Amino acid sequence: MSLEEYKGVFIFAQQVDNELSGIALELLGKAKDLAKDLDEKKVTAVLIGDKVGNLVDTLAEYGADRVIVVDDPELKDYRTEPYTHALASVIDEFKPEILLVGATAIGRDLGPRVSSRVHTGLTADCTQLDIGDFPLVAVPGQEQKHKQLLMTRPAFGGNTIATIACPDFRPQMATVRPGVMQKITPVKGAKAEVVEFNPGFKENACYTKILEIVKAVSEVEDIQEAKILVSGGRGVGSAENFKILDDLAKVLHGTVSCSRAVVDSGWKPKDLQVGQTGKTVRPKVYFAIGISGAIQHVAGMEESDLIIAINKDENAPIFDVADYGVVGDLNKIVPALTKKLEAALAEK
Ligand SMILES: Cc1cc2nc3c(=O)[nH]c(=O)nc-3n(C[C@H](O)[C@H](O)[C@H](O)COP(=O)(O)OP(=O)(O)OC[C@H]3O[C@@H](n4cnc5c(N)ncnc54)[C@H](O)[C@@H]3O)c2cc1C
Repeated sequence: MSLEEYKGVFIFAQQVDNELSGIALELLGKAKDLAKDLDEKKVTAVLIGDKVGNLVDTLAEYGADRVIVVDDPELKDYRTEPYTHALASVIDEFKPEILLVGATAIGRDLGPRVSSRVHTGLTADCTQLDIGDFPLVAVPGQEQKHKQLLMTRPAFGGNTIATIACPDFRPQMATVRPGVMQKITPVKGAKAEVVEFNPGFKENACYTKILEIVKAVSEVEDIQEAKILVSGGRGVGSAENFKILDDLAKVLHGTVSCSRAVVDSGWKPKDLQVGQTGKTVRPKVYFAIGISGAIQHVAGMEESDLIIAINKDENAPIFDVADYGVVGDLNKIVPALTKKLEAALAEK
């Protein structure tokens, strides 16, 4: 493999039912930063599906300079084999230096398959991506390579943070969970160069047949979309006592979320869990109520604009990331705060 042949930052632009997934736009935002650090002029989105050309302009508005479109009836719904063939063929043909994929159900299936097929490495669930030297600190007798993709992610059950590189193979591949990277402000009317590419699809024994698609209907709100999150932990004490958080959320037009301890106790559904094994959130205001601030929880909420912690233990680690902290019993503080806010908002 001649590494020099591989150029440019590519993202897999996931779409489902002809609708772009938010992660595609988030990856474009990060890809732009990486391309700048590599002195690359173009960011490329790879769009795979059936009759998906109408999505090109949105990708352009969110930062794609070029869109490679693989359009074929075989690609109507996601299936491992034809999508792997499509993306691996794009890599063989266009030779990207970096390829980012969303750590969604689709991306987690597709990314490793593709990396194995093109014989390169993949770092899953990255929380940070940078361009830099590898090894990070020069080691005598070992070549230090420059302008490598440095992929950072929690390791050993979240007890440490590892930075991983792929210096000997290309493309350098990473998956990133939704909510971790930020979209750019869209540039209305931006246009991208469009390249149509179809490697041809020959059905083989690995092709699955979809008999029926049954969509899960979520009964809970999407906490990643919420502007205000009122998040509760084990300190709330019971499922019933979440009522005081519901009341606060109602006054603020916010949404209730929770820590993993709450999900494990069966008080709230997993869809509301914030953290490393839950969702990554970035609201304008995040209330952490009766949450200790374990590293795995903080990993999912530390990028919130404003963090307000309520905890009876003044040494709780949540106060290290909080902008405002209230030390005391949440059973007294939360209802009092709700009442004050209600009164203040009624005056307006
Ligand atoms: C691989 C792995 C992945 C994980 N992923 C996640 C994840 O995605 N999300 C996540 O949240 N956790 C995750 N965890 C678990 C994490 O390590 C913690 O165990 C969990 O976050 C603790 O939840 P908690 O803060 O609600 O509970 P606790 O740690 O028990 O904290 C309860 C807090 O409530 C306070 N409190 C109690 N009563 C009151 C009161 N009356 N008034 C005010 N404060 C009070 C206490 O002082 C304490 O600080 C993961 C762990 C592992 C090993």
